[in-house]
Amino acid sequence: MQLEKLQKLIPYEYDRVPLFRRRCDEKGIKPRDLVTLADLAKFPFMKKTDLRDEYPYGLTAAPMSEINRFHCSSGTTGKPICIPQTANDVEIWTEGVMRCLSMYGITKDDVVQVSYGYGLFTGGLGAHYGAEKLGCAVLPTSAGNTERQIMLMKDLNVTVICCTPSYFLHLATVAEKLGVDFRRDTKLRHGIFGAEPWTSEIRKRIEEISGITAHDIYGLTEIAGPGVAGNCEYCNGLHIWEDHFYPEIVDPDTLEPLPDGEEGELVITTLDRTGTPMIRYRTRDLSRLQTGTCPCGRTMRVMDRVHARSDDMLIIHGVNVFPSQIEACLMKVPQVAPHYMIELSSTDTMDRFEVKVEVEPNAFSDTISGMETIRKKVSASIKEIVGLSPIITLVPPNTLPRSEGKIKRVIDNRGK
Ligand SMILES: [Zn+2]
Repeated sequence: MQLEKLQKLIPYEYDRVPLFRRRCDEKGIKPRDLVTLADLAKFPFMKKTDLRDEYPYGLTAAPMSEINRFHCSSGTTGKPICIPQTANDVEIWTEGVMRCLSMYGITKDDVVQVSYGYGLFTGGLGAHYGAEKLGCAVLPTSAGNTERQIMLMKDLNVTVICCTPSYFLHLATVAEKLGVDFRRDTKLRHGIFGAEPWTSEIRKRIEEISGITAHDIYGLTEIAGPGVAGNCEYCNGLHIWEDHFYPEIVDPDTLEPLPDGEEGELVITTLDRTGTPMIRYRTRDLSRLQTGTCPCGRTMRVMDRVHARSDDMLIIHGVNVFPSQIEACLMKVPQVAPHYMIELSSTDTMDRFEVKVEVEPNAFSDTISGMETIRKKVSASIKEIVGLSPIITLVPPNTLPRSEGKIKRVIDNRGK
């Protein structure tokens, strides 16, 4: 089925998208050269910079009469990237979200609060359409106005919330201030979290704070939006909807395909999209395709949860460090809260590496010795895993910035 779809998609793209045709011609490869699935690796990659350079319509394959929806995401500089979609593209995306929700155990009896931002960002509308298609009652709160979000959650017996993991943590802090206990005062039982890389340590922390089950939903605007993959009840990774999205893992340096089981950069081809098809799109997300079968019985392949993006990697004192590693180290210390910030700057001689983290309200004290014990634990945890000893600054509860969307946890002022 994947091969049949690819054998339609490649000539379609070749005929309609000049950039793709030019790159195939430069490589001396023709659509008819796709005979087996492995032949896909002969075709050129697409990257985020292609979308930026060809903005707004250069990679659009369908005529405007067939375009039904636009979504955009911010580019790294200047112009955004823009993804025009057909009605069928939106339908496939909706189905992907619906399948994820169903896999999480959500049914038409559930009340789903969508606290992802609505608009050009795919989070809000993606979750909304998927939940509605499943027959759920949807509460489209969008992001922001956190106190009202909590009031509606209580009053309308919301059972499912969709948002970024960092926003949920913020919501939990505000709920505590208002004296709202998720277990006692709400019917909330599922959280569907995505749009940011997050670690399993944060997931555990979210579940402990709120008593809900935290699910992971994966996707990106360039490919569809959320709903490309999701975790099953075994939670050891995410099933990819392989009938719509063809995954590959490549070595981020050589770009050669890697066998299943090895970690590298996730590359996705959209098998059914006709508005803005993506062929071998480099997601920059680091993952692995697992070998073997999942105990849940589903046969679609499982990717590891994305805990890091290759773009996020920091080089500090010559050591490669991912923010997610720092997060995992911090979460090993129960006295610190899941709110932190990594700050980098340069002095005359070397990089200054500081980690600021909030202390849990019940662990916060004014005594120097009490705080020093926590600081030492954090420092040892980071030293053990990352091999570096950053300056650790413990800050009082609720003092670091919060986010209503995707949070920024790294401030890198080196070379500025
Ligand atoms: Zn499974």
